[in-house]
Amino acid sequence: MSEARARRFHIKKGDTVLILNGDEQGKTGKVLRVSRKKEAAIIERINFVKRHVRPGHPTAPQGGVIEKEALVEISKLMLVCPKCNKPMRAKNQRRDQGKRARICGSCNEQID
Ligand SMILES: [Zn+2]
Repeated sequence: MSEARARRFHIKKGDTVLILNGDEQGKTGKVLRVSRKKEAAIIERINFVKRHVRPGHPTAPQGGVIEKEALVEISKLMLVCPKCNKPMRAKNQRRDQGKRARICGSCNEQID
């Protein structure tokens, strides 16, 4: 599978997103990581799961149970505009000199 064929998402690292459904519905968080392969993202302090780890783990050198963010499907996320703080649809996109930009439908702000 080539990089060019990889699907482009409206969400990327550093974005603030709104959780659209599931247990965390209505919450917002910052995107820490996007997995294109799994079409999902890790959102800061969203979707915590408990994990048992062996001694030697960087977060828990003694081993035991740690809480860690689990992947959330991209389809359950909506980008929140950093300017007006409203959830925005990803449809407002345009190409400017070959560069793709995301445009907020509420305040018209361009988000790179
Ligand atoms: Zn906006």
